[in-house]
Amino acid sequence: MRGGGGGGWGGGNNGNRKIHWVSWEKVIAPKEEGGLGVGSIRALNIGLIVKWWWRLKSDPPSLWSSVVTGIQNLNGKHNLFLSNKKVPGLWNNIVNARKELSKQNINIDNIFKYVVRSGEKTSIWNNTWIGSENFRHKYPNLYAIEPNKNCSIAQKTASKQNAWQWKSCPLSLGLTQDLGSLYRDLFSSPLTPGDNHWRCKLTTDGVHFVKKIDLTSHHATQPSITWCKLAPIKVVAFIWRASLGRIPTSSTLMSRGINIPSSLCGSCVGADEQVDHLLVNCPFATYVREMIFTWCGICPPTIIGVSELIQFAATWGNCMKQRRRFIVICYGLLWGIWKFRNDRIFNGTFTTPSRGVEIIKSMSFLWIKVRGSGNFCNWDEWRLSPFSVL
Ligand SMILES: [Zn+2]
Repeated sequence: MRGGGGGGWGGGNNGNRKIHWVSWEKVIAPKEEGGLGVGSIRALNIGLIVKWWWRLKSDPPSLWSSVVTGIQNLNGKHNLFLSNKKVPGLWNNIVNARKELSKQNINIDNIFKYVVRSGEKTSIWNNTWIGSENFRHKYPNLYAIEPNKNCSIAQKTASKQNAWQWKSCPLSLGLTQDLGSLYRDLFSSPLTPGDNHWRCKLTTDGVHFVKKIDLTSHHATQPSITWCKLAPIKVVAFIWRASLGRIPTSSTLMSRGINIPSSLCGSCVGADEQVDHLLVNCPFATYVREMIFTWCGICPPTIIGVSELIQFAATWGNCMKQRRRFIVICYGLLWGIWKFRNDRIFNGTFTTPSRGVEIIKSMSFLWIKVRGSGNFCNWDEWRLSPFSVL
């Protein structure tokens, strides 16, 4: 199973070998030590990991959910307390991610809220549907005298006289306070028509959380990566991994003992396909970069690696607006070269350098158009210069 969201760092699946392109420790390490840092965890990792939890909770019929639910014996449980160390791979990554987030005082469970509608399928005792714990744990003495321990909320809240019957009288057992508190809980959550569902508390619409997570406050101060919100998050994550040399090029695959026909760059066949070669030093990459730089009106400097290119973009010029656009373009450049390479290997599609330049121009144009705010130029102006209308 491949990681979701296009930006997962979890292990791919080649035979039984699990590959961690970037270790979790690296992900949570402080930025000064080359990691993403806590701030970036909030921005990026929550977005990616929570997406898995989200799918597990909100989309039970999906393949992903049914697999995990089956493995973990989750049926009917809405709390995410599980961790089965015997099941390797992606699942453990996700479980570990959850633990690491909790060390940062981020509780994934608190990001979601189970919204009860008709309550027909929700167990009143066993599901956590009001507050942070289920009634079974909140009112153990009442649960003990409940004759129908699996009854639904709908059954209990139907205005039938005998909806609440106990094995013994709660009042005579001294449970008056518990009973009063239980009734208050019930009344505090009026049921409404519709299906039960999970909501994500990070956003106002409760659904599209990944897009809504704000990256602006998480700019790294002296980073190898600028967390530019104008580029898609999967692209920024890719750039970050590329700067660490952690993308699955032929050369890295081979050095990890994976059996592939050749470690040579498929574009020039003149060098090992290492990350810096593929994205920066290969004649294809060099040509495309020089064309892009010329379009930007920037004299192409000598650059020998991904980190260097990123650093150059992050410190280029004096105008912040121009620099932001230039960073997006450089990210688009690297992302584009990676994409053309994958198209060639996996789809047999060849992209000429000049066509590649055009694709990168239009890709970065669309990113800024979709994500940017304020005045933006039109396509004709953009093709003339990316710094039009600034
Ligand atoms: Zn090459």
